[in-house]
Amino acid sequence: MLGPSPEEHPGLKPDCERCCGLCCVAPAFARSPDFAIDKRPGEPCPNLTRDFRCGIHDRLRAEGFRGCVAYDCFGAGQKVTQITFNGRNWRESPQMATQMFEVFGVMRQLHALLVYLSQALTLGPAGALYGDLRRKLEELEASSRESADTLLRLDVASHRREVNDLLLRVSDLVRAQS
Ligand code: SF4
Ligand code: SF4
Repeated sequence: MLGPSPEEHPGLKPDCERCCGLCCVAPAFARSPDFAIDKRPGEPCPNLTRDFRCGIHDRLRAEGFRGCVAYDCFGAGQKVTQITFNGRNWRESPQMATQMFEVFGVMRQLHALLVYLSQALTLGPAGALYGDLRRKLEELEASSRESADTLLRLDVASHRREVNDLLLRVSDLVRAQS
């Protein structure tokens, strides 16, 4: 049976209303055609409001923040905010902020892998691998719900290798049937 596409999977799309603006603080920006400013990692973007909204949301391109329009956290932001940190936010303490930003980096990689696996589960010719794809998806989904400390110890590179191997096999099946 085909799985839902990532677009139909609400947990794999950003839900900024339930996030504390993690992508507007955690990463560094380098001034470029995509970002109008330089910003250090962990430094809040000056356009971020006190209630974690973007103050220039309706004119990002015009203000030189094309990169923000293109950015996708794959749903990592709201999971870190609501599940890993139980609704708390990085403004509460510098220690929490540091940990939250590190966890966000891990979670975004995990969620990217979940998106790839979900996409593979929408491909008819990959049917013989659905069991393996679903097992890996469930394993990574469970890992993404672990505590912050456990997430920071996760061997993401090894999970990425496993997913890459699976996706190569999916690709072989799709090519064989086209
Ligand atoms: S991290 Fe994701 S959910 Fe949070 S504000 Fe950025 S795009 Fe939205
Ligand atoms: S410009 Fe808006 S969306 Fe982009 S980082 Fe700053 S607050 Fe976030």
